[in-house]
Amino acid sequence: MTTLDVLVLGAGPAGLSLAAACARAGLSVAVMAPDPEAAWIANYGAWAAELPKDWRAWAEVAWPEVVVHVDDARRHVLPGPYVRVDRRRLQAALLASVPDRRRGTAEDAPAARLVVDTTGAESPRVPRRGLADPGWQVAWGEVLEVEGAPPEALLMDWRGPAPPAGEPPSFLYALPLPDGRWFAEETVLVSRPGVPLEALRARLDRRLDRMHVRVRARHEVERCRIPMGMPLPTGTVAAFGSAAGFIHPATGYSLATSMRLAEPAARAIAEALSGGGDAGAPAALHAACWPEDRARAWAFYRFGMEAFLRMDLASVRAFFDSFFQHSPPVWGAWLAGDLPPIDIAAAMLAHFGRVGWRVRGQLVATSLGPQGWQLARELAATTTSRS
Ligand SMILES: Cc1cc2nc3c(=O)[nH]c(=O)nc-3n(C[C@H](O)[C@H](O)[C@H](O)COP(=O)(O)OP(=O)(O)OC[C@H]3O[C@@H](n4cnc5c(N)ncnc54)[C@H](O)[C@@H]3O)c2cc1C
Repeated sequence: MTTLDVLVLGAGPAGLSLAAACARAGLSVAVMAPDPEAAWIANYGAWAAELPKDWRAWAEVAWPEVVVHVDDARRHVLPGPYVRVDRRRLQAALLASVPDRRRGTAEDAPAARLVVDTTGAESPRVPRRGLADPGWQVAWGEVLEVEGAPPEALLMDWRGPAPPAGEPPSFLYALPLPDGRWFAEETVLVSRPGVPLEALRARLDRRLDRMHVRVRARHEVERCRIPMGMPLPTGTVAAFGSAAGFIHPATGYSLATSMRLAEPAARAIAEALSGGGDAGAPAALHAACWPEDRARAWAFYRFGMEAFLRMDLASVRAFFDSFFQHSPPVWGAWLAGDLPPIDIAAAMLAHFGRVGWRVRGQLVATSLGPQGWQLARELAATTTSRS
C-alpha cells in the first residue's frame, strides 16, 4: 500500500477545508475522525470579506448590514455582507472533495508523510508557547418562532440591565432567518472562568421578556463554549484550524480564517513534500499560517482580551462605542486578524484617546500587570525568532 502524503486528523471545517485544498494541490490525502461525516452542529457566522470568493455557494443568508447597540442611545450600523453559513451545504461540498475518509482517532492514524492535527482548540497533541489559561466565550442560542415582525440583524445588543454584581456582561446576537424564524443567542464575549451555560439561558429568557418578544416555539438549542487567547503553537507538530490557535482572541471566530488559509497552507505542504523535506513540513505549514505580522497581531489581541476581562458593562459600552468609530476598513481588518501590528498600535492609540478615563484606567492597569509583560515578551519573541 502506498503511503499517504497527508493524513488530516479531524473532520471539522478546518480539517475538511485543508484536506480539500491538499487534494486540489495534487497530494494524496485522507481525513480521519471518530465519524468523519458526523453533521456539524454549530451555527457559523462570518464576514463575507473574510471568506473565500465562492462564499455565495454555501451562504444561507447574507445581511447587507448588521447593527451594534451600545446602549439605548448609541447604535452603529456596520456594512456587511455578514453571512450565516449553510453548514450542511458547506460540509457536503467539502466532503465531496475528500473521498478518502476513515473512522478512527489519532491513535489509529495510518502512516503518512505528514499528519496534520485539526482536532480542535484543546488538542493535547499540539505543543504551545506557554501554558493555556484561556478566556471562555460562552453562549446560549435558540432558533425561535416569534410573533410579530422579525427584528434587525443584531451583531451585538448591549442594551438592557447590568448583569448581577460580579458577573460578566452579556449581549444579544440575533439574526432574522429567511423562514421568519429568529436565531437568538445570549453571549458572554469572554470570561474566566467561563460562566455557566444555564445562567445565559436564564438571561436570554429575561431579555426576551424585557423586549416583549412573544415566543411561539423553540427549536434548535446551541450550547457554545469557545476557548479564547490560547498561546500560539510552537510549530513543531503540524496543526491547522482552531487546533493551531486560529480562534480570534477578540471574537471567538475561526471559520473564515481556516477557509482562507487552507489554500496557502496546502501549497506550503506540497512544496515541502515535493522537495523530500518531510521533516520540515510542520514548520513550513506553521510559517504559512503564522507569518510574523499575524503572530504579533495575535499578541496585541490577547492583551486586549485580558483588558476586556476587567471591564464591567459601562466600560464595555464605552469600549465598543469607540471601537466602531474606527473606519470600516480598520475595524474590519482588526476583526479579520489582518491589521498589520503598526496599524493595530495606531488604532489602539486612537481608541485610548477616545474611550474615556474609566476604560483608559483598565487598559493602563492591564499594561502594568503580567499581561503587559507578556505582550512585550511575545512581541520580542516574534522579532528574535525570525531574525
Ligand atoms: C457552538 C459554537 C459556535 C461557533 N460559532 C462560530 C461562528 O459563528 N463563527 C466562527 O468563525 N466560529 C465559530 N465557532 C468557533 C470555531 O470556528 C468552531 O469551533 C469551529 O468548529 C472550529 O473548527 P475546527 O475544524 O478547527 O474544529 P472542530 O470543528 O472542533 O472539529 C474538530 C474535529 O476533530 C475531530 N476529533 C476530535 N478529537 C479527535 C481525535 N482524537 N482524533 C481524530 N479526530 C478527532 C472531531 O470529531 C471533529 O471532526 C463556534 C464554536 C462553537 C462551539
